[in-house]
Amino acid sequence: MDKIVILGAGQAAASAAAKLRALGFEGRLSVIGDEPVAPYQRPPLSKAYLLGEMEVERLILRAQSWWEDENINLLTGSTAQRIDREARQVGLRSGEVLDYDALILTLGAEARRLPEEIGGHLPGVFVVRDLADVDAMAAEFQAGRRLAVIGGGYIGLEAAAVARKLGLEVTLIEAAPRILGRVAAAETADMIRALHLAHGVQIIEGAGVARITGAGRAEGVALTDGRQIPADFVITGIGIAPRIALAEAAGLRIDNGIACDAEGRTSDRAIWAAGDCASFPGEDGTQMRLESVGGAIDMAELVAGNILGAGQKYRPAPWFWSDQFDAKLQIAGLGTGADQIVRRQGDAEHGGSVWYYRAGRLIAVDALNDARAYMVGKRLIEAGRSPDPARVGDSSVPVKELLS
Ligand code: NAP
Repeated sequence: MDKIVILGAGQAAASAAAKLRALGFEGRLSVIGDEPVAPYQRPPLSKAYLLGEMEVERLILRAQSWWEDENINLLTGSTAQRIDREARQVGLRSGEVLDYDALILTLGAEARRLPEEIGGHLPGVFVVRDLADVDAMAAEFQAGRRLAVIGGGYIGLEAAAVARKLGLEVTLIEAAPRILGRVAAAETADMIRALHLAHGVQIIEGAGVARITGAGRAEGVALTDGRQIPADFVITGIGIAPRIALAEAAGLRIDNGIACDAEGRTSDRAIWAAGDCASFPGEDGTQMRLESVGGAIDMAELVAGNILGAGQKYRPAPWFWSDQFDAKLQIAGLGTGADQIVRRQGDAEHGGSVWYYRAGRLIAVDALNDARAYMVGKRLIEAGRSPDPARVGDSSVPVKELLS
């Protein structure tokens, strides 16, 4: 193993590169990314960075000197155009060709956009995915201006919270019957909705977007029920799509992203994948994909080890967090498929936790302003232990006693 190429230069790429060197890989190591900046953290883009409370330097994961000291060939502003699996080469748009013995695809995902036919292309419509996206909308965030947010997932809610904090008038529109439909139980959505309403965000649920109105620039949102929401600008947070085009063109198996086995290897033995673009076998036999920075780091480090022969299987231990206003939402585990939900009161205003069970097994905990419930829930999930739901729901039982 002399030459490893990593395509995509986000969190997963930086983690894989660092792990390869930490494990003693001394061969040629290249990281190729099409953004003009070195790998950076994405989570603050919709939080502290959007709020203007974090410098760009603090987003950057590793200083330029680190890449040089580690002798990693970091090519930013470079687009890979093709993977030649026969020759084990990657061709860049610049004409440069890189040989590999192992290739890691950490291509990430791109923000879904509303179609052009309904105004998705209009100036004044923004997404929150890359640093450049957020820089492009910074000037719009001025007190008193009106923002319409389309999509009630984490992106939409975090952007709404930042805008409200900065004094904008914010309306959030969710097409599904409630916010956070894809990622959280109704009880968690209720806590988050109450938090936003208390801060003056208007939330409209169960109303689709007919179109973004405006001739030369977005001027509002027309809903399918006939309502018109005037806006000075619009942010869409309507999900992401894994970047699969290069893998697909190279004939790799695609199934909910670039399909990998439990070790992170694609359908080509020399090609591996990690992060938002990669799917892996779930417990139920389907290919699952974790859209989370923690998952990207874990899978990338696993792949680095496996390329060097570790032979480890990926066991996702999902965790997420979200900052909205002054509240912190922490999530351990994955609530998908839950058949019992237990709500536990917390001490703080807009606080408490939601516990997810499937067939009697604790599978996830959402905790809002309740770090103790999060820590206890996480430890229980990791240990495969499931406290009696009746005790969980009884807030007179101290949360730590759930561990005993
Ligand atoms: P998301 O979690 O998929 O949420 C998108 C939301 O928009 C869904 O509720 C979706 O409803 C709704 N939607 C879709 N099309 C719509 C339409 N035409 N009109 C109105 N609503 C529509 O994705 P996201 O919030 O855009 O976030 C993107 C990625 O970044 C995700 O992977 C997310 O997990 C990640 N992220 C994570 C955090 C965090 O963990 N704190 C923060 C920010 C971003 P349906 O489900 O019904 O389609």
